[in-house]
Amino acid sequence: METVLTTHFADERYRRMDTYREYGGYEALKKAFAMTPEAIIAEVKKANLRGRGGAGFPAGVKWEFLPKDLSRPRALVINADEGEPGTFKDRLIMSRGPHLLIEGIVLSSFALRVHACWIYIRGEFVREAGIMDEAIAEAYAAGFLGKNILGSGFDLDVTVHRGAGAYICGEETSTINSLEGKRGWPRLKPPFPATVGAFGLPTIVNNVETIADIPWIVTHGGERFAALGCEKNGGTRLVGISGPVRRPGIYELPANVNLKDVIYDVAGGLRDGKELKAVIPGGSSTPVLRANEIDVTFDIESMAKIGTMAGTSGIVVIPEGTCMVRALSVLMNFYAHESCGQCTPCREGTGWLKKLVGKIEAGEGRPGDVELILDLCENMMGRTICALADAAVMPAQSFIWKFREEFDRHIGEQKCPYGNRF
Ligand code: SF4
Repeated sequence: METVLTTHFADERYRRMDTYREYGGYEALKKAFAMTPEAIIAEVKKANLRGRGGAGFPAGVKWEFLPKDLSRPRALVINADEGEPGTFKDRLIMSRGPHLLIEGIVLSSFALRVHACWIYIRGEFVREAGIMDEAIAEAYAAGFLGKNILGSGFDLDVTVHRGAGAYICGEETSTINSLEGKRGWPRLKPPFPATVGAFGLPTIVNNVETIADIPWIVTHGGERFAALGCEKNGGTRLVGISGPVRRPGIYELPANVNLKDVIYDVAGGLRDGKELKAVIPGGSSTPVLRANEIDVTFDIESMAKIGTMAGTSGIVVIPEGTCMVRALSVLMNFYAHESCGQCTPCREGTGWLKKLVGKIEAGEGRPGDVELILDLCENMMGRTICALADAAVMPAQSFIWKFREEFDRHIGEQKCPYGNRF
């Protein structure tokens, strides 16, 4: 299978500029500078490149949201905050192929007529931030960043900005607030960042993987990229798989791969002869699937048809013997901790979900508690500034809908039948 991103990742030297160039790195820039920005955007649209940060919005369409008026400067922000539990792909790109990201940034900035880009990187990614800083310094020294890049007349500055470890700062308006030095709170939309974004400028916020795909698209053309995937999802995607499988890790796979094949063929199936109980398919906020629901194409549309999402392609495998109430309790603790507290349904709702699920797991649940959780979920969903409340609701609802009997047993027996205790 043809790969877009990971072809040379096995070579540790690939993170250095000289090796990156030996493999053909930065050649796409020469091609791009002979094209118009509009022609590059047209290739990205042809590529059917869907945003890899979780929402899956078509990247080329998003780029066209920038105002046509060129009198004001624009900005590009790379979302490298990667905080969704179960997701660890952008980290791999930054640590193994930092120049792939930088080349993608230069190409995207040229297409967007942007002269200032910030890479907003998760605070915990200390090593990756250091690697990006080094790679950026190499790119400046070689003339791939800065003034008059390769004599094209195009200028671009790139700055790494480290976050401080808040999940919510991965939400694009929160990313922008944090970048501006403000509290990392999401903003009400509209206005959308493409109109009023970083420092008041029209801004495009894109995920690391999305931008790292751009050099390949410019080099080989949008149609060839599109052909690597399926009808509405072009290219390949980095799929992360964690949990008790034989070969956990990140794999570059076509968008039309079957989810069951990822778990059993690519990752080698479960360890120790265990049976599969459930799968969280695309990061912790995506609705859980039962073991008998995973024989499905792992693309955005197919996953939506079965009531879940491909999200960030961070698959979490849950084996037999796992207490689903405890698993949900862990997730609810996370979302309650990460709520920024601006909206009452999220601030109070996530806290209440955490308490109720924790109580049931501890054997202190009462009849009616499960209905109360479901009622709470309905009152939270879609009623907040950003999607964090929804991100807590989707696992809560799906865990209950699909594993209701476990919740009822905890309440009926007044203990965890799996013997789990906090
Ligand atoms: Fe903050 Fe939650 Fe409201 Fe998002 S939904 S803005 S995280 S309180």
